[in-house]
Amino acid sequence: MSSRITAIRGMNDILPVPVKDNPITTGRWQQVEQVLRGLMQQYGYGEIRLPVVESTPLFARAIGAVTDIVEKEMYSFMDRGTPPESLTLRPEGTAGCVRACLEHGLTYNQTQRLWYTGPMFRYEKPQKGRYRQFHQFGVETFGMTGPDIDAELILMTARLWKLLGLEGAVQLELNTLGQPNERQKYKEELMKYLSAPEVYTLLDDDSKRRLHSNPLRVLDSKEPQTQFCLDLAPQLVDFLGEESKRHFEELCGTLNANGISFKFNPRLVRGLDYYNKTVFEWTTTALGAQGTVCAGGRYDGLVAQLGGQPTPAVGFAIGLERLVLLLEALIPRTDTAEADIYVVAGDEARHAALLLAETLRNSLPELRIVTHCGGGGFKAQFKKADKLGARVALVLGGDELAAGQVTVKWLQSGEQSTTGRAELAEFLKQGLGASA
Ligand code: ATP
Ligand code: MG
Repeated sequence: MSSRITAIRGMNDILPVPVKDNPITTGRWQQVEQVLRGLMQQYGYGEIRLPVVESTPLFARAIGAVTDIVEKEMYSFMDRGTPPESLTLRPEGTAGCVRACLEHGLTYNQTQRLWYTGPMFRYEKPQKGRYRQFHQFGVETFGMTGPDIDAELILMTARLWKLLGLEGAVQLELNTLGQPNERQKYKEELMKYLSAPEVYTLLDDDSKRRLHSNPLRVLDSKEPQTQFCLDLAPQLVDFLGEESKRHFEELCGTLNANGISFKFNPRLVRGLDYYNKTVFEWTTTALGAQGTVCAGGRYDGLVAQLGGQPTPAVGFAIGLERLVLLLEALIPRTDTAEADIYVVAGDEARHAALLLAETLRNSLPELRIVTHCGGGGFKAQFKKADKLGARVALVLGGDELAAGQVTVKWLQSGEQSTTGRAELAEFLKQGLGASA
């Protein structure tokens, strides 16, 4: 036997049924996707669908050369063109969204409220909540400068947790990064502080390296010794200008007025370079180390950085695997049935069984009707009906066929009766309604 080819490490199949190592079914994903679509409709956001592959320089320019993503996580390859072009499987959605908006003039003199969802790719060490192919649901807005739109995005995410029954399972952390010039002054001071020999020796290797290339990222370090050094470091809030402070205060005011509680976290800097002013994360303690379920912020400089007119922008992305894992952990699904009605048929009635199911799907479109295909004895067919969790088996044997009737068997009680085909839909509707 030849060896089997398996999936790529960190890239998961999502199946209709739970399996070992993967309890999460496509049903659960569909539930989340449906809620998200409804939410977007409620807020008047439009869907944008983007290619999975983009030109490599787009990400280098948008995300920043000295970031984990661009330094070591991108799936890049040369295509077959002459000359070959470097392409990259998208590691996130914002860069492509801005690229598309510019290409189609969507941000020119107008506001936009957009959402997208789909797979993203990062070459990371796979573990619970961290994969090489994962899915994001993202929202991006353009053309709005005020803190009201920042607040709208946070209110929208808060509503989502409520809709999913996750209220209380996630906490909001909030920070402001100010404007680039304010951050520049702060970076210099932070660098001075961290370079002092007595501090420098205590930093972890990653932080030492970042100190010169991207000192703000040091704030992000999870190393206890580095964290300890940061306790006495200069604080970004002390470098903010009036406008940045006002923006942040207004945002906090709106959140308070709407009953959204949050924690101010001055060390929250986010992995990507392009943020300014507002940054936020929704985190949970229920998933272990990979606790950030949703992350976002303002990125007023990015559109111009990618060649457009200066355009204010703010957005967020939800890690869907983490969200689905969280739901699975906190709200176990009770309805695991895969069918409502199972049609059992004798060999002579196989053709009629399909016809019967089709007719029923016309009159009872909301029900899941599965026809037994492939023949076999009645016993095996009933077993299959049970396995799928069906509530009713419809039996079509030779006798029923001859009499123009169907035997209806209620699988929980074992009760059964025979009814004419014309009355069947009404009979099922009443019976299923009563036993629901
Ligand atoms: P982290 O600090 O966990 O690496 P990040 O800052 O790199 O996250 P973003 O680029 O802001 O993450 O992506 C937004 C969200 O997408 C994250 O909050 C997370 O929920 C999810 N996410 C990011 N990377 C992965 C991954 N490799 N696997 C699964 N989900 C991910
Ligand atoms: Mg990351």
